[in-house]
Amino acid sequence: MKYTCTVCGFPELALPPERDMICPCCGTHFAYHDSYYSHSELREQWIERGAKWHSKRTAAPPHWSAYQQLIRLGIVLTPEEEKLLGNPATVITYTA
Ligand SMILES: [Zn+2]
Repeated sequence: MKYTCTVCGFPELALPPERDMICPCCGTHFAYHDSYYSHSELREQWIERGAKWHSKRTAAPPHWSAYQQLIRLGIVLTPEEEKLLGNPATVITYTA
């Protein structure tokens, strides 16, 4: 069973996003960071930092895309946020 990070949408968490789980993707330390900020605030902060892969120990999956992850989570990005994430149109694959 894999879990999805409620902050960044990373779908490969080994444990549910709660109780001291640290998301390797956005770096959210659950039950710690989210006791100060809401998940949407943490997401905004992560995006403002450029939505970079967080973990140095766990490598990002091949072809990892923060943009696709956020879209899958149903997040609508502002043009400014899209700019922060690079050039997303080139990495999107629509399967529908
Ligand atoms: Zn995350």
